[in-house]
Amino acid sequence: MHRSLLYQLYPLYAVAILVAVATLILAASHLFREAFYAEKEAELTNSVTLVVNALGAESLEGRTDAQSLVTALIRGTTNRLTLIAGDGTVLADSDADPPTMENHLERPEVRGALADGFGTDVRISATTGENSMYVATLVRDETGSPVAVARIAASITRIDARSQDVIRVLVIAGAIVVATTALFAGLVIARVHRPLRAIRTGADRYAGGDLRHRITVGRAPAEVLQIAETLNAMAGQLSETIGRITTQRNELEAVLGAMVEGVIVVAGDRTIRSLNEAAAGMFGVSRTEIDRHATILGTLRNTELDAIAEEVMATGHPVEATITLYRKHAISLQVHGTALASDSDSGVLLVLNDITRLKRLEDVRRDFVANVSHELKTPITTILGFVETLREGALHEPESAERFLAIAHSNAERLSLIVEDLLSLSRLESLETEAPVEECTIRDIVDKAVESCIRSAEQNRITVERGHSGPAVVNVNRTLVEQALINLVNNAIKFSPEGSVVRIDTVVRGDELTIAVKDHGYGIPRRDLPRIFERFYRVDQARSRALGGTGLGLAIVKHIAIAHRGEVTVESVEGRGSTFTLRIPGGKPDAE
Ligand code: ADP
Repeated sequence: MHRSLLYQLYPLYAVAILVAVATLILAASHLFREAFYAEKEAELTNSVTLVVNALGAESLEGRTDAQSLVTALIRGTTNRLTLIAGDGTVLADSDADPPTMENHLERPEVRGALADGFGTDVRISATTGENSMYVATLVRDETGSPVAVARIAASITRIDARSQDVIRVLVIAGAIVVATTALFAGLVIARVHRPLRAIRTGADRYAGGDLRHRITVGRAPAEVLQIAETLNAMAGQLSETIGRITTQRNELEAVLGAMVEGVIVVAGDRTIRSLNEAAAGMFGVSRTEIDRHATILGTLRNTELDAIAEEVMATGHPVEATITLYRKHAISLQVHGTALASDSDSGVLLVLNDITRLKRLEDVRRDFVANVSHELKTPITTILGFVETLREGALHEPESAERFLAIAHSNAERLSLIVEDLLSLSRLESLETEAPVEECTIRDIVDKAVESCIRSAEQNRITVERGHSGPAVVNVNRTLVEQALINLVNNAIKFSPEGSVVRIDTVVRGDELTIAVKDHGYGIPRRDLPRIFERFYRVDQARSRALGGTGLGLAIVKHIAIAHRGEVTVESVEGRGSTFTLRIPGGKPDAE
């Protein structure tokens, strides 16, 4: 871990200050000592010069009073005077007895004096045991020849003591300087360090996503203040940009979520980058299952879709195809794959359209056309056949001609019936809103219907019973309801054995008119019940045709119910009979 600025800078500062102050102290103390020594040396030089002057040009050798002479010359001073012969023998000394003293020829000051006329030295005196300064000079006779060396020595312990005092003062002053400087350096560093710490904390919070935080640095150097302001501005801009991006993303999510079409975005590495609610619904997956590793094969489990995505990626051209999903029911999807132009990633956008209903409608339409053609073909072929026979000569055989014409006529009637029913159906289907209603009496409707069927009922010795409960007047489309009732009663008569009973029950309760037609006929097999209201659907084709049915009667009933926002249902047990129930809401007449 990196150490903080304070701990990195501060020791360096401290060491630098210490070294500077110590060097200064050393230099100063050295200079002081040198100055003291130089002063002392000058003083001693003066003294020794005085002594030499006082000695004059007298020869010193062999003088018996030499000892008292030096003592007299030096009296009253703290200095020591020594006279030394040219060979180093001590002639006289103010502090010691010369015979006891060793030869002084090798003393540095003596050697200096003998060589250059003047010499000095500082050392511990062998005689006094103190640190002393020696200054020696040559004593010459009147001819100028050297006769001896005069040497003055003085203790410099006091000078040393003064030097020590100076050093002590310097050290104390230095310590004060070091302490103050260290303190100020610390304050200066802290002044930079505190705002930097605030900046670091702020940057950490930005990194953690808290872009509303603002860095405050208080009194800080201009550069640091600028960094803080720049960071604050950056956070503001970032927050604004993120806000804008989030809004855009939410809008996009909302649009994709509201779309009926499924939308899947596949990345270049074939993983699913996004998928909307509609697409998830189509494949029966939850959007939470779509993680970073989800693929079309792994998660949606569809090889066809994967192949489309791959083709788009490989060619870069749009691909359109229809695929089928086998879920609870087969779902037909029209897939449109387009390459997503991006430099870094050759992704694919897949838009899925559920065309199951469209396809079913198309199938129904195709079947219907085929059925209609088939239904029309039989009577037309029959008519054409008999007309041809008549033209070829049968016309001249009155008996045959009559029969053939009757057959042609009945087929033409059948054709007319089919066309009429088709027209009724098409009219019902083209009703844009509900059928227009009028006030009518239920009794009239039922009378009219029974009247239309009474002939075939009588032919089959079938009794038609009727019952009613509730108000007598309803608001319905009279013609349509009559038509529906006729179709239901006709079927009941057609599909019942001779002598059985058909019952019509009408009930008006609350807002609803219910018409139930019950027979005790052959009934409808359970497996046929769901398809019984489809056009041209018959349980038994041959019987229906023989009975003159078009296969459109129940389809018309269903559409009449729809035109009234109602419904028709059937309950039937094979061999026991059927009950068709038509429910029409809004059957109650208006208050006026
Ligand atoms: P159709 O003209 O053949 O009667 P519908 O659409 O009226 O055509 O009826 C379709 C088929 O439903 C009939 O062919 C018949 O097989 C069956 N069906 C309708 N009503 C009855 C009923 N009351 N009893 C038994 N079968 C019925």
